Amino acid sequence: MLFETIDIPQLNKTIKTPIGLFVDGQFIPSSDGGKIDTFNPTTGERITSFYAGTVEDVNAAVQIAKDVYTYTWSMQPMKDRRDLLLKLARLLERDKEILAMLDSIDAGKPYHTNALADLDQVITLTNYYAGAVGKYTNGEVIPVNSDKFCYTLREPYGVVALIVPWNYPLAMACWKMQGALAAGNTIVIKPSENTSLSLLYFGQLVMEAGFPKGVVNIIPGVGNIVGEALAKHMDVNKISFTGSTTVGCKMLQYSGLSNMKEVCLECGGKSPAVVFKDADVNNAVAWTANGIFYNSGQNCTANSRIYVHENIYDEFLEKFKEYAKSHYSFADFNIFNPDCTLGPVISKIQYDRIMKYIKSSDGKKDILYSIPSKTETTGFFIPPVIFTDVPEESLLLQEEIFGPVVVITKFCHYSEVVKMANNSRYGLAAAVFTEGVRRGHRFARDVHAGTVWINSSNDEEISAPFGGFKMSGIGRELGRYGVESYMQTKTVHMSMAPHH
Ligand code: NAD
Repeated sequence: MLFETIDIPQLNKTIKTPIGLFVDGQFIPSSDGGKIDTFNPTTGERITSFYAGTVEDVNAAVQIAKDVYTYTWSMQPMKDRRDLLLKLARLLERDKEILAMLDSIDAGKPYHTNALADLDQVITLTNYYAGAVGKYTNGEVIPVNSDKFCYTLREPYGVVALIVPWNYPLAMACWKMQGALAAGNTIVIKPSENTSLSLLYFGQLVMEAGFPKGVVNIIPGVGNIVGEALAKHMDVNKISFTGSTTVGCKMLQYSGLSNMKEVCLECGGKSPAVVFKDADVNNAVAWTANGIFYNSGQNCTANSRIYVHENIYDEFLEKFKEYAKSHYSFADFNIFNPDCTLGPVISKIQYDRIMKYIKSSDGKKDILYSIPSKTETTGFFIPPVIFTDVPEESLLLQEEIFGPVVVITKFCHYSEVVKMANNSRYGLAAAVFTEGVRRGHRFARDVHAGTVWINSSNDEEISAPFGGFKMSGIGRELGRYGVESYMQTKTVHMSMAPHH
């Protein structure tokens, strides 16, 4: 069986969804018939199982993507790519609720306050990249002398492989796919083993939109089988990975061990938010609370370290706790309740990992409401947790916890807080709150991060580049970079002089 029906009793809906690999425009079983169970983090129960790809499946998919690129896709007019992406955007709009429901049950995302917002972004982004087709492809002409000039061409890589995580299952995939398609590549993509359902459903929409078979191929499966085979494949010319820094480092090794493929990495973070004494405190509280508790803290850019000037520290802390208590609710552990703003974390493994940090004795902790007992819920719900007075070398301030856990620290001087903000191996993002124009821009200059928000936090824009400094990554996504990074530059030398 290559399709399963999934019931969403809370919304009185049943979804028919594919569970096979999506290769050459159709759903197929894996070559060895192996499957992976996928679980609902809200209950801990199994939802269904889907086929898990093998190395043989990866090889077959890459070969198909290569052939389609060579014989069909690379010759298709750009206008066709644009029209296909526009059609895809309309289909995503049509099936928005279904895709949001799949991400809700598979990733534990509150349906109304989180999963639907992901889909809104995916639709906007698909339209955006339809409009980007042909826009960033222009090369340049370089005059050399009267007998010679050079020009450059921007060409797609051919087959690109994409590997994505579970925290924004469809959105993270689309951040990569739409730009890669707009640039003219063919794709083999691997979703996370925790959350493959929405991307497989998406495969159906790709076919319905009319993309040639084999332009998009989806191989779910285990990271060190499917992911590794893609990253080491000799016919994959670029790999774009979003996930942990540990696995990101492996991507660079895989590239070096195979064909030196171009690598784009979007990895972990430990982003600081700094609140100066002239900040609008209510504004800073709202942005930073959302910046850590939205998506249960499972955000690469989560502002998990907040530094507050000593003059406003007590006021900030009190208001922060009040805000978190009044805005973040499990709503009886029902992620389909419109009042639910705090879902479970993804899995038992992550739950146990986060609880270990919560048990830390570094500093003081405030668990905002009690940790649910197993009789209350079998899901992986963790309440907001605030640590204070934590020593700088504590793991709480150094490691990416990826849960609703924040450390709030007092500071006194500008130079001191810049040093603390930069004391991390990560450099994904940072936020600063101040009403002083010069202070805000000075901090943006001084902080080591790929994205800086002045007076907001975690409000990405799909038209602006996104990516990390230091061990948060290499390369950029979104905006024009989301297309340009899927093209390589060819230089053509035009000589008019005879050889002497
Ligand atoms: P992960 O690194 O465990 O897995 C990411 C993907 O890599 C999954 O599809 C997984 O199957 C695959 N994978 C695992 N081992 C592999 C291997 N040896 N070879 C090839 N592929 C392999 O990350 P995760 O737990 O799914 O996601 C959470 C992490 O993602 C966090 O660190 C978070 O910060 C990061 N993230 C970063 C961004 C960003 O844009 N910078 C966005 C979202 C998430």
